[in-house]
Amino acid sequence: MQNKYFSDMEIIESDIEDKILNITNNTDFSKFKEDDVIYALKKDTCTIDDFCALISPVAKKFIEQIAAKAKSERERFFGKNVYFFTPLYISNYCENHCVYCGFNCKNNIKRAKLSFNEIENELIAIKKTGLEEILILTGESRKMSDINYIAKAIGLAKKYFKNIGLEIYPINTNEYNYLHKSGADYITVFQETYNKETYKANHLKGHKSIYSYRINAQERALKGNMRGVGFGALLGLGDYMKDTLSTALHIYFLQKKYPKGEFAVSVPRLRPTVTNLNITPIDVGELELLQIMCAYRIFLPYVNMTISTRERAEFRDNAVKIAATKISAGVSTGIGEHAHKKEGDNQFEIADPRSVKEIYTALKNIGMQPVMNEYVWV
Ligand code: SF4
Repeated sequence: MQNKYFSDMEIIESDIEDKILNITNNTDFSKFKEDDVIYALKKDTCTIDDFCALISPVAKKFIEQIAAKAKSERERFFGKNVYFFTPLYISNYCENHCVYCGFNCKNNIKRAKLSFNEIENELIAIKKTGLEEILILTGESRKMSDINYIAKAIGLAKKYFKNIGLEIYPINTNEYNYLHKSGADYITVFQETYNKETYKANHLKGHKSIYSYRINAQERALKGNMRGVGFGALLGLGDYMKDTLSTALHIYFLQKKYPKGEFAVSVPRLRPTVTNLNITPIDVGELELLQIMCAYRIFLPYVNMTISTRERAEFRDNAVKIAATKISAGVSTGIGEHAHKKEGDNQFEIADPRSVKEIYTALKNIGMQPVMNEYVWV
């Protein structure tokens, strides 16, 4: 594992990585028995041990009871609300070499970066769909998408949207603070895998190869006053039970340390990319994915949970009834596609191409309440 930080990387004192890995590395999921699952389902408060029982192999046969408990927790904290957003990719330049990603610097794909005019056209096109929350994404290239470029994009987005998230390369505390002051509400950083060996094998080059800088991104963002932080492991890249546990612990320990922060979790599974159409998630079928989502909901009941268009429509609609609270809609993972002027290749293939209106109607029809925004700006 390359541990040496690049010279532009801030080092913060943090005990979070050690806390996560101490527990994860000492957890053996095969030790859990049916009685542990039954015990976890009976309790009002879910401990770390209960969470492990719920994601263990033996818990699969209790999926209906686990889903019922997750649904009741979901309704207790979120009612029928389902929060809508869409991602906006403004650049796909990337300096990292993540083996599983179509955007990686070794892949010969069509690269693009939107001008501010083009960004505004995208924003206007998305706004017309009725959405009020947007997630701005870049590939991870500080050179091609520098902080000022991102800050200006946020400024434009603020003209049209009430809630603005970022999924960009991890940055330092003062830079998170600058982007927050520019109008960003939350950031999402996926650790992809928390296993250091698997991480090293999949992140061959660039800033992302520094595991510890990435794992501390959310803490730097919270120190930089960002309102919310998002987490996720790329399910199917490594041992999904260990990665699920690590993700949950990452949130759990940071929640205790920064109780004012808003926390969110995503559950991305590996998807085929433009350069590798045969890629599949190891061991994580829809049953395991649902099990993971339900366990997160029970262990972290008031954390937002996003289900992305990596999953098919029917699965997503069921998932928001049971565990997820946030759904992307009208999605394009290409550059400049919302205004119908395709500039760059897509990051991954999507499985739910429905428009905002179609998803809105589908969720209304199953008794859920689509919410475009719940923040009031005065
Ligand atoms: S996963 Fe992110 S950092 Fe890695 S190659 Fe893809 S865009 Fe770049």
